[in-house]
Amino acid sequence: MSSTPATDDILMSAVDIVKQFPVRSQSVFKRGRDNVHAVDGVTLNVRRGETLGLVGESGCGKSTLGRCLLRLIDPTSGQIIFDGQDITQLSRRQLRPVRSQMQMVFQDPYASLNPRRRVGDILAEPLRVHGSVDRSRVRAQVGQLLETVGLDPAHSNRYPGEFSGGQRQRIGIARSLSLRPKLIVADEPVSALDVSIQAQVLNLLEDLQEEFGLTYVFVAHDLGVVRHVSDRIGVMYLGEILEIGPVDAVFERPRHPYTEVLLKAIPQVVSEDNPDPKPQQLKLRGEVPSAIDKPKGCSFHPRCDYATEICRQVTPVLADLGPQQVACHHPLPLLEGLAKGSVVPAST
Ligand code: ADP
Ligand code: MG
Repeated sequence: MSSTPATDDILMSAVDIVKQFPVRSQSVFKRGRDNVHAVDGVTLNVRRGETLGLVGESGCGKSTLGRCLLRLIDPTSGQIIFDGQDITQLSRRQLRPVRSQMQMVFQDPYASLNPRRRVGDILAEPLRVHGSVDRSRVRAQVGQLLETVGLDPAHSNRYPGEFSGGQRQRIGIARSLSLRPKLIVADEPVSALDVSIQAQVLNLLEDLQEEFGLTYVFVAHDLGVVRHVSDRIGVMYLGEILEIGPVDAVFERPRHPYTEVLLKAIPQVVSEDNPDPKPQQLKLRGEVPSAIDKPKGCSFHPRCDYATEICRQVTPVLADLGPQQVACHHPLPLLEGLAKGSVVPAST
């Protein structure tokens, strides 16, 4: 890729990450095992201080990729460089000091907090495991963490069940912050919350990013949310990145046919002409193919209006196209003088 920025700009690089899950074969004609191709050759850079959004329909491999990046699960192949260090082969023990610098915030604040432990203990644990801080300082730090995420330090002796969903997600965020990480992978961090609470938690994440110079990989299926928080965005389909680039470029001038259909599914902006905007339907032929039997060539070709013979035979690789990178044999044209936000007619 020609547009690779200087390496000190890059906090994390993933090179050709593959993750397959062996599963028992579903076919009546075949015994034995198949492989789910959950992540299928993802290469990306995460720049220091940015928010990289990852979007795509459910099952496209976003969570699996996020877990591979942090080595919460081991990729089948590929390489992960974090802050200049190749962490792909590090043992659990060697990983420990790196772990504190990269943390995950999960979708479900209910499931990710032990209901039988007091919030103060939940937050103190990483400090005790990784640091040698004495008790009174741990207590002070826990109080500070709670304050940082907008909770009352006096509530550290309560149990997770005594907090609301939004407050629990704040606790999850506080836990991820306790060791002063550089990178946070947030996997659908607001998807389980009421819409009214979502904005508060997103604002908190933005404030924390500024305060602590954090870098985020932000996974979500809600494109509106991703657009709001991301600097760059990667569009995933069947374990691959089909388009990646600055968020405005990708949203306003999508070049991959899949990105275009995906974007049409977001509600349009309210305006005088359009006071009650409705999301257009995601108009895609057929179903998402199985991640076990992926189509040959471009994985999107069976559903693509523009597919030709080459798409059925040859897998396209990400290539620079203006500000973004696109894996497509027939990228959508850029029309001269096209008004912002208008859609390229399918006939051109
Ligand atoms: P997303 O987060 O985008 O919804 P996931 O990463 O959860 O997608 O899943 C990607 C694919 O991998 C899906 O087909 C899913 O069924 C499969 N998958 C995820 N985890 C496992 C697992 N532990 N065993 C088998 N298949 C899995
Ligand atoms: Mg997921």
